[in-house]
Amino acid sequence: DIYTAAADRYEKMTYNRVGRSGLKFPAVSLGLWHNFGSKDNYDNMKAMCRTAFDNGITQFDVANNYGPVYGSAEKSLGRILKDDFMPYRDELVIATKAGYDMWDGPYGDGGSRKYLMASLDQSLKRLGLDYVDVFYHHRMDPNTPLEETMDALTDIVRSGKALYAGVSNYNEEYTKRAVELLRERHCPFIVNQRRYSIYDRTIEEDGVKDCCRENGVGIIAFSPLAQGCLTDKYLHGIPEDSRAARDPRFLHKSDITAELVKKTTALNEIAKLRGQSLAQMALAWILKDGDVCSVLIGASRPEQILDNIAALQNISFTKEELDAIDRISKA
Ligand code: NDP
Repeated sequence: DIYTAAADRYEKMTYNRVGRSGLKFPAVSLGLWHNFGSKDNYDNMKAMCRTAFDNGITQFDVANNYGPVYGSAEKSLGRILKDDFMPYRDELVIATKAGYDMWDGPYGDGGSRKYLMASLDQSLKRLGLDYVDVFYHHRMDPNTPLEETMDALTDIVRSGKALYAGVSNYNEEYTKRAVELLRERHCPFIVNQRRYSIYDRTIEEDGVKDCCRENGVGIIAFSPLAQGCLTDKYLHGIPEDSRAARDPRFLHKSDITAELVKKTTALNEIAKLRGQSLAQMALAWILKDGDVCSVLIGASRPEQILDNIAALQNISFTKEELDAIDRISKA
């Protein structure tokens, strides 16, 4: 079947400027870390991406090693682009990364020029694209001089293989140094991708939220639903089709503790009073003050994407609500 994007796709989404750049991210972006691997169902992947784009999600986020197997999420996205989205290429932001382990030997991991250059070329082949919109260094590498990594990002942008540079999982010190180095190099460094949610406040505590605001670097928040823990799905046991039950890589059944369920139940009550699902409240909470330009969600089915986008209908909180959320989540 031939895909035609929904005519009203730009009416349900808000778009936020990324740092001080000219680029805007959709307030909700879709990540392909889970459910886009070689063993996952292609029709479901395609349905999720169609639902996303039909509702204004213009950004799709992958990394070289998303799968499993490594590379397969990029291949899946490449197939979806080819089947559905290539006529809309200029309406899309495609982001990928290198920085974690990707291939055997000394050149498939870290932050070297050797790794980043080769990895992006591989990613472009899998995606079937001649450029990505954002290319990230995926994590800090204390064994590579930051100058080398930033030179590589700069040269990648100059080559046209990426339009903008980003970093991910960078702390305050590395972010500050990256800002300086990329400013000297006239490289458009627009975003730091960090984990952030009601349950993970690290960027508030380690200085990165302030540092990014002060330096005009955008923040995109990954795992905004704490991999599903900030939804109502685990309130009455662990459903068989959930990430905790199905995929033992990053979320374990043992992570769903009685204490977590108790906190989540209390948060769910606040969400109900607001007339939102807990997932919606968790996303709204991240977007409430404008410091984070996009929440980078994952999904296992199209309905979750629709549920999550509806968060945008109410992203303001009363002081009482915020205090209650803090009291519960920090207990
Ligand atoms: P989330 O915290 O949004 O968790 C997504 C999971 O939560 C879904 O797969 C689904 O799991 C469940 N879920 C989503 N919406 C709902 C809903 N409305 N109701 C009930 N359950 C829901 O994000 P992820 O942890 O998946 O990360 C998102 C993206 O962030 C990744 O795809 C990746 O692009 C990026 N990322 C980046 C990292 C980095 O180092 N830069 C690291 C990790 C992620 P279920 O299977 O249980 O249905």
